[in-house]
Amino acid sequence: MGGVIGISNNSDAAGMAQAGLLSLQHRGQESFGLAVYDDKNKNFGLYRTSGLVMTSLAELDARRFGGKYAVGHVRYPTSGKKTGLLDAQPFVFDTWRGEVSIALSGNIINKEPILKQMRRRGAILQHSSETELIVHLLAQQKGPLLPALNKTLKQIEGGFAAVMLAGPALLAFRDPHGIRPLVLGKAGGAYIVASESSAIEVMGGKYLRDIEPAEILLIENGKLTSSFYTKPKARQNCIFEQVYLSRPDTVIRGRSVSTARMEMGRLLAKQMKDIKADIVVPVPDSGLFAALGFAKESGLPFEMGLVRNHYMGRSFIKSAQAVRDMVVKLKLLPIADIVRGRRIVLIDDSLVRGTTSRKLIKVLRFCGAKEVHFAVTSPPIVAPCFYGINTPSKKELIACTHTHAQILKELGADSVNFITIKNAAKACGGREGPGGYCQSCFTGRYIYKISKATLESR
Ligand code: AMP
Repeated sequence: MGGVIGISNNSDAAGMAQAGLLSLQHRGQESFGLAVYDDKNKNFGLYRTSGLVMTSLAELDARRFGGKYAVGHVRYPTSGKKTGLLDAQPFVFDTWRGEVSIALSGNIINKEPILKQMRRRGAILQHSSETELIVHLLAQQKGPLLPALNKTLKQIEGGFAAVMLAGPALLAFRDPHGIRPLVLGKAGGAYIVASESSAIEVMGGKYLRDIEPAEILLIENGKLTSSFYTKPKARQNCIFEQVYLSRPDTVIRGRSVSTARMEMGRLLAKQMKDIKADIVVPVPDSGLFAALGFAKESGLPFEMGLVRNHYMGRSFIKSAQAVRDMVVKLKLLPIADIVRGRRIVLIDDSLVRGTTSRKLIKVLRFCGAKEVHFAVTSPPIVAPCFYGINTPSKKELIACTHTHAQILKELGADSVNFITIKNAAKACGGREGPGGYCQSCFTGRYIYKISKATLESR
């Protein structure tokens, strides 16, 4: 997961980057950073730390980063051995081309064989993430920057979106299927690149367009140069952006994520028309919009039977299961007066390990709920994602290890209902498969061949 931003030509690039990073915080809370290029002194200022952007604002201000160019990153580790500061991005490397800074969101699936070869040749690698690999490959290429980046990106496969500063030149590029999102905007005389359109608005800008799959966009001296490092493949955007990851006010392929989520709820209500219930209760915040759509379609009242404690982070983020369990308990609180004696449709965006739903269903019953019908606005997740969404190994995925009947028993629900792959894509304004959305985690069929070693690494 993770999120990136890039800024070109704003006198307060650091301030703008902070706003952008704050607005992308939901994409990663492990660490964040920004690199600001000062074109007067011709060097980079770098700030990276663990934790939330909010907690470092005073320190960032005190640093007084000068420079009109910046790249920034919020990190949620989906690959790389380490957590914490060492893999916090952006990275700044000193290459024969001068200093280069890079931030990347997503995964490169063929990084292991390339890294192995590099190590054999004596390369010393500091980080365990794919981001360093790109700069290594780039540094090995001779000649001008753009053709060199072209050759570099031809060697890698995966789902990624990245921003890079080579001095004041801002580059933005994306994988050939457009799995991970990346958009371009403008604020006054500044160009902005970001993982989500909502970040551009927060930075005072206007969305212009998506960076296209396989495109390299170079922004230099106020000019945009677009080129393609390979032939763009049929679009396969990650549908988990709409399901869970993106902010509701972000627009993807012309449709706001909130609209897509409401539509998912509406279509799921159609699928579940035979279920008898009294109220629709969302798991806040992830199930809110879907529950609204469900309520509208079904005619059932929307009730806040659960409230969220906003002082707790996303439970997924915690790496140990015991901590995750505790966080779920503290994070979502039942309102007994609302749920008592009611037949509930409980709406959440996804079922991964089953940690959240198992606990919620138990607590709702404890508070007197008569029936709990669990409704999920993504299809069953049966395979891990290798393109940048943090889904665990097959053995941890409840929909992979359990039959439908076993899931029902394990969660303690009266029924468990998933949106179909087709309806999920339809709700997002697209279709399933090539030309539409990546559905690897729902089918186990991957866009790129995943090596045995990579598959077994999960
Ligand atoms: P689980 O409790 O393991 O079944 O996970 C499902 C819950 O985690 C849902 O409430 C989602 O909103 C949330 N979730 C789903 N996918 C992710 C992800 N990749 N990262 C963080 N949280 C997630």
